[in-house]
Amino acid sequence: MNLNNYPAEPFRIKSVEPVKMIPLEERERVIREAGFNTFLIPSDEVYIDLLTDSGTNAMSDRQWAGMMMGDEAYAGSRNFLHLEKTVQEIFGFRHIIPTHQGRGAENLLSQIAIKPGQYVPGNMYFTTTRYHQEHNGGIFIDIIRDEAHNAGLNIPFKGDIDLNKLQKLIDEKGEENIAYVCLAVTVNLAGGQPVSMKNMKAVRELTDYYGIKVFFDATRCVENAYFIKEQEEGYSNKSIQEIVKEMFSYADGCTMSGKKDCLVNIGGFLCVNDDDLFSEAKELVVVYEGMPSYGGMAGRDMEAMAIGLRESLQYEYIEHRVKQVRYLGDKLREAGIPMIEPTGGHAVFLDAARFCPHLTQDQFPAQSLAANLYVESGVRSMERGIVSAGRDNNTGEHHRPKLETVRLTIPRRVYTYRHMDLVAEAVQSLYRRRETIKGLRFVYEPKQLRFFTARFEEID
Ligand SMILES: *Cc1c(COP(=O)(O)O)cnc(C)c1O
Repeated sequence: MNLNNYPAEPFRIKSVEPVKMIPLEERERVIREAGFNTFLIPSDEVYIDLLTDSGTNAMSDRQWAGMMMGDEAYAGSRNFLHLEKTVQEIFGFRHIIPTHQGRGAENLLSQIAIKPGQYVPGNMYFTTTRYHQEHNGGIFIDIIRDEAHNAGLNIPFKGDIDLNKLQKLIDEKGEENIAYVCLAVTVNLAGGQPVSMKNMKAVRELTDYYGIKVFFDATRCVENAYFIKEQEEGYSNKSIQEIVKEMFSYADGCTMSGKKDCLVNIGGFLCVNDDDLFSEAKELVVVYEGMPSYGGMAGRDMEAMAIGLRESLQYEYIEHRVKQVRYLGDKLREAGIPMIEPTGGHAVFLDAARFCPHLTQDQFPAQSLAANLYVESGVRSMERGIVSAGRDNNTGEHHRPKLETVRLTIPRRVYTYRHMDLVAEAVQSLYRRRETIKGLRFVYEPKQLRFFTARFEEID
């Protein structure tokens, strides 16, 4: 066994939260009551919760100590100044506006940077990001490289933007009709796939030529930086901090969900370099979030975020993080479970299309797979397929993503390798009875972001 493959937890546990598995009959009742939607299961009924890595992070003793140093002044909180300085140093952007979480920043950015009818190209979509872009009259265009849509293909940097697709869009629509390029690091819905530094640089050069802005979705930027250090030529001797700084030197700003790589439970921010955009964002943030010096956050939360951001850049932390996720992926691959290759930074994605070949995409195979995994084992996961993709605003038809997946998302610093073993065993045992997984149909379908609250029943 090579200890470097799966490093031990670089922390010891100071506070614990008991978890327990409820009996099978109860899990069967719970999933029915939840309308076969894992989002609607009360967390007390869950054994191992891999619904999301969002806001589920365990904070360090230093972060908890920072919480006690909260300055809850309405204006000019010292914690904001600390956060502002930290973000400026780490990311290199000039202006930062705190928001209650990532979508708050997406709301502000979409309002100030998109004119109705403009195109917003991006490397695959994210649910809330695309919602805000479209809500503000933007037209989202996916310009991720084709390989990202091929689940089983194991190549590095599947999150890269296809520069030919971007060039073609500029040629066809004209640079004045492109609001900005939205570049996500890593790409959540592609399976947590990273973007190479080479690609970020090339996107910057191309957009500079046409005077188009580039905004990063920075949500998982530290995980992306780890992949660059591990796999991209010329970066093995650079620190995570140096890599992060270079990444953001190719952007005009970013939106950040603090609930992921900032190692906190709530928060987010918007960064911009441009002074005019900053003024506009400041005018809007008071309407939607709060004073520019707290956005949607308490002082103590900004303090925890400033400390968490620094911790996330420590090599031991991020190496363990990415390799723990990979451990689960390796176990499942060895067992022959179909999944998105390679394993991404925050999650293992089961390939529901190949897991349940007896179901059509209209029978929501990933939704049903997630529901069945819960019944099998008390493990909670999430659908990332046709239900998450929603409907086309104009035609009313389902968006039909090529990837029909179930996401097993690993919270940061929360579970151990033994928990990963348990999850792998549960997936294997479900795989053995995969023909018993039934299709689903909607009994309630919300108009927007339907996956959060939709309800289903089984088709017999
Ligand atoms: C979570 C997430 C967001 C939205 O952030 P919230 O904090 O949940 O509002 C945006 N982009 C990506 C890639 C995300 O994973």
